[in-house]
Amino acid sequence: MTTTTPESVERIVASVVGEVRRRLATSMPADGCCTADGIGPDDGVYPTVDEAVEAAHRAWTAYLPRSMRERAAVVAAIRATATDPANLEYMAEQAVIQTGMGNVPDKILKNKAAALGTPGTEDLTTDAWSGDGGLTTVEVSPYGVIGAIAPTTNPTETIINNAIGMLAAGNAVVFSPHPRAAALSRWLVAVLNRAIAATGAPEHLLTMAAEPSIENTQALMRHPLVRLLVATGGPGIVSMVLSSGKKAIGAGAGNPPVVVDQTADVKKAAKDIVDGASFDNNLPCTSEKEVIAVDAIADLLRFYMTTFGAFEVRDAALLKAIEALVMDGDDPRAEWIGKSATAILAGVGVEAPAGTRVITAVTEFEHPFVQTEMLMPVLPIVRAKDVDEAIQLAIKAEHGFRHTAVMHSTNVDALTKMAKLIQTTVFVKNGPSYAGIGIGGEGYTAFTIAGPTGEGLTSARTYARRRRCVLVGGLNVR
Ligand code: NAD
Repeated sequence: MTTTTPESVERIVASVVGEVRRRLATSMPADGCCTADGIGPDDGVYPTVDEAVEAAHRAWTAYLPRSMRERAAVVAAIRATATDPANLEYMAEQAVIQTGMGNVPDKILKNKAAALGTPGTEDLTTDAWSGDGGLTTVEVSPYGVIGAIAPTTNPTETIINNAIGMLAAGNAVVFSPHPRAAALSRWLVAVLNRAIAATGAPEHLLTMAAEPSIENTQALMRHPLVRLLVATGGPGIVSMVLSSGKKAIGAGAGNPPVVVDQTADVKKAAKDIVDGASFDNNLPCTSEKEVIAVDAIADLLRFYMTTFGAFEVRDAALLKAIEALVMDGDDPRAEWIGKSATAILAGVGVEAPAGTRVITAVTEFEHPFVQTEMLMPVLPIVRAKDVDEAIQLAIKAEHGFRHTAVMHSTNVDALTKMAKLIQTTVFVKNGPSYAGIGIGGEGYTAFTIAGPTGEGLTSARTYARRRRCVLVGGLNVR
């Protein structure tokens, strides 16, 4: 039975009032809406993909002559809207409710990072050569309409991150969200479009089809007016865009290993690993998914991890029960993805001690929890005899995704060796994995990390074409 406290009542009332306020602020289309939430074509949300693409194309054509200052105003409007405290809370709460994944405080952090840490127009730099032959510049220029496919694990973060980068680069975007995040994505496209239009920019620079589906995503990929495809998701959707015949950027799955060697600050490593692996219930593709610890410090690491909120499973039967609960053959069971450690333990009849954030267990390297991208706070620990063996196991566990890896060590040679050999797009040294996406580490934020196609952490310049302009014989003033 849940207990009602003054705080919980206050929270519910605030949430209802916020929702009513937002509904009232939604402009209702005069000729009827296509969705029950009152969001429709006036907001950039269209009944069909064709209409969404055509509207984005019209918006792009009108956006093309606008100045960089106007693009910067668009970016500022997206940042301000996404960081409005009521909107931040709404996005986080609704993402958890609609997708059934993750937790509200971490989603607030992730959305804030996307809104404030994604580079804008300043990311677009010009190269120039001048000499006796004249002046040549290479400037970055928009593709036009981009089809952007977003995952269920970071539904609003990806829309905010992509919208800032893609619009800063002068494009318009048709989003294809995951069906589980459809209502929230419609709401976000609508509020962002309203904020963008208020700057004087063309209407509907962001669009989507009201009801996302596999058929609609495929129609988006085929549409002749879509010039660039950007897929953020699992291996299926990434290989689909790569075989579309169009320019495509693929940001795919990972299975980030974290290696801890005998030179590491073991207590700090334990805290960083628990922090990283429990962040948004392990949903980020960058989160630590398996620990490889050298024998010399493995037990100390396990001890410290328990002091920071790890519940270590030592009973083989309990581990089997958890496996049966969360695995469906070789894959994680969808209904357990992004659930908390406490919920998973409750699922096998164990009441987690207060403060439990992650479930750990010492396993063999072949264990499915090591080999599979689980996307839940279930973190296997594999022992290795030394750092070289640990690095080799980490490379194998990463499966060549070239996504993310983490290492805790103070040995520069070992850090360099692992970074060189594992070839991941993100390599975090001595920190939690999220430091690699600009949360607590230096560098900008991206929620589309393009490992398979090599663009890395995407930003505005990723979404722009390089175009050369040559002025022959003039404007060389050297
Ligand atoms: P998913 O692949 O199931 O879905 C991603 C998107 O693709 C969704 O919008 C979905 O509707 C669409 N989609 C999937 N299969 C499709 C098909 N056959 N036809 C048309 N559309 C299809 O992934 P998910 O569960 O939403 O997200 C989790 C996955 O995404 C994980 O593997 C995670 O590692 C990865 N991810 C990667 C990054 C990155 O930047 N590299 C970021 C976030 C998530």
